[in-house]
Amino acid sequence: MKDITILRTAEQVGNLVNRWRQAGMRIGFVPTMGALHQGHLSLVSQALGEADRIIVSIFVNPTQFGQGEDLESYPNTFDEDLMKLEEAGAHCVFFPSVAEIYPDGFSTSVHVSGLTETLCGKYRPEHFDGVATVCAVLFGIVRPDIAVFGRKDAQQLAVIRRMVDDLRLGVLVLAGEIIREPDGLAMSSRNSYLSSEQRKQAAVVCIGLSRAAELVSEGERDAVRICDAVREVIAEAPLATIQYLELVDPDTMKPVEKLNTPGLLAVAVYFGQTRLIDNVILKP
Ligand code: AMP
Repeated sequence: MKDITILRTAEQVGNLVNRWRQAGMRIGFVPTMGALHQGHLSLVSQALGEADRIIVSIFVNPTQFGQGEDLESYPNTFDEDLMKLEEAGAHCVFFPSVAEIYPDGFSTSVHVSGLTETLCGKYRPEHFDGVATVCAVLFGIVRPDIAVFGRKDAQQLAVIRRMVDDLRLGVLVLAGEIIREPDGLAMSSRNSYLSSEQRKQAAVVCIGLSRAAELVSEGERDAVRICDAVREVIAEAPLATIQYLELVDPDTMKPVEKLNTPGLLAVAVYFGQTRLIDNVILKP
């Protein structure tokens, strides 16, 4: 195993990044909340293909959790995470405290309007302000050349891209494909909350999305009919409750009625208290 540097302060990260930059290296960045799985590690490998030095942050960002959400119970597997990151070839883990990211007097919030109003934004009204703000802070600390985000959180990816463009942050944002379990369930740190019966039934989410792709390949273009077919598949799992299922434009997140250009079919499903999200790009 290689050495991985663990840093806890912004100043330490700044010093390390300055040294790397002086040596002419490109810096890649992968922000995470820890409890790492193959989905996160695939982003690290993608970053390694594009940059010389990779920093991964592990920070459970309190400002992106709403009241009654799982901030307190969010899984923490720090020691395993370190081993996985070392194995994956990451060079540095930034593991800041909450006070390091939000020191006394912190007063800024980044709000990306428009594309935060649908899908998850509708049900988690402060979530994307928290995400955009923490990513702006982390980008300021790390000053990466590139940052990699997973398509699993498609709305988050669109929000970050919009923010980086609007604020001219000069970070190249790359998207990583969704990594799935053998039965199709999108990997997520939150999958560990599922009971064994919920876990078994959770495969319907991906099966439903695949059904949509199949319908589109057969010529279906109507959003209502596509969504109805997916609902039917998901309804086969008695433990599943759909929060939203919508076909939207992948850049603006605005609802689409007819699929004339690629559309994002995004879904949030509850299994008990556990909320899972997934999506697929449908190409006409
Ligand atoms: P999180 O730790 O959940 O905040 O996720 C950190 C990053 O990993 C985000 O960019 C996510 O989109 C990405 N990610 C999470 N799950 C997956 C997955 N199954 N496949 C690809 N990327 C993922």
